[in-house]
Amino acid sequence: MAEVLVLVDHLEGAVRKPTLELLTLARRLGDPVAVHLGPGAESAAATLGEHGATRVLAADAPEFADYLVAPKVDALQAAVEAVSPAVVLVSSSPEGKEIAARLALRTESGLLTDAVDIAAGDEGPVVSQSVFAAAYTTTSRVTQGTPVITVKPNAVTPEPAQAAGTVEELSVSFGPLATGTQVVSRTPRESTGRPELTEAAIVVSGGRGVNGAENFALIEALADSLGGAVGASRAAVDAGWYPHSHQVGQTGKTVSPQLYVAAGISGAIQHRAGMQTSKTIVAINKDSDAPIFELVDYGIVGDLFDVVPALTEQVNTRKG
Ligand code: FAD
Repeated sequence: MAEVLVLVDHLEGAVRKPTLELLTLARRLGDPVAVHLGPGAESAAATLGEHGATRVLAADAPEFADYLVAPKVDALQAAVEAVSPAVVLVSSSPEGKEIAARLALRTESGLLTDAVDIAAGDEGPVVSQSVFAAAYTTTSRVTQGTPVITVKPNAVTPEPAQAAGTVEELSVSFGPLATGTQVVSRTPRESTGRPELTEAAIVVSGGRGVNGAENFALIEALADSLGGAVGASRAAVDAGWYPHSHQVGQTGKTVSPQLYVAAGISGAIQHRAGMQTSKTIVAINKDSDAPIFELVDYGIVGDLFDVVPALTEQVNTRKG
């Protein structure tokens, strides 16, 4: 069976959820082979094997930590040359997309980004992308080289599948571009205990209708009851009510959760650009003509100061 390379997204060996989603998709296309760069491959291998990775190609070198994406591109290219995979899958994070683009260029291959689904096809994988405010789904395939595909977080639910996950050393030599951009410092974000916004399965966002920084506690309470992350519209961020790192939209982050709840957000095109591929969209808005209602699965016309606490109470009650 053909092998499918999956670039592992991890923090010192703690595998991040989008990688488990990639492994789940990879199994539709062939035998997944994980590529683990940096420290922690041995501890990651168990999790990778439990999600179907037959092999884990591992390389560790200071270059992965000290420089930006270029050393990882060298390593992934070495893995492509060693394995001759049918497909390469990478997470659709900013770093993942840069790595994928560089790899595609180097291997003279076609690239498809931000896949929301992948199916096996007679002539290679068929990739679904959601475009124009989710008005269309396009399906495409790569016609040249080894398809390089980036996949949005939450495209699928990770499913376990036991495989060996045997760690093998990947030999990498770094080219002259590898040290072109150096990391000066890294500051971990303050931990809120909530999932990372772009990876969260549930996101609850507040907009101008929240009407003040202090009222974001309502949004946070609903997010916490659901185990979700908190997002914000640009209007709320520009007003200083919530940090920019939580802004969803064209000039913020792109999220694609299973459930997106928009409270007091009108649904401007620039906001939609960051959340339109969410699986289920719920909006709470007191204006029944708000444009957000054009794209929702469930719309609640009402005052968020009544609706959001009532929802939080219901969720907490049902959780017991
Ligand atoms: P508004 O449009 O003011 O909507 C507030 C909504 O809250 C209204 O629909 C109102 O009916 C409702 N409301 C008020 N009170 C209540 C209540 N008590 N209960 C229930 N509902 C209530 N925006 C982004 O979000 N993300 C981006 O990344 C982004 N990038 C941009 C980039 C550019 C180049 C430009 C030009 C704009 C960008 N914007 C972005 C801004 C965007 O155009 C909108 O201005 C913004 O999204 C509006 O935010 P909002 O929906 O919170 O506010």
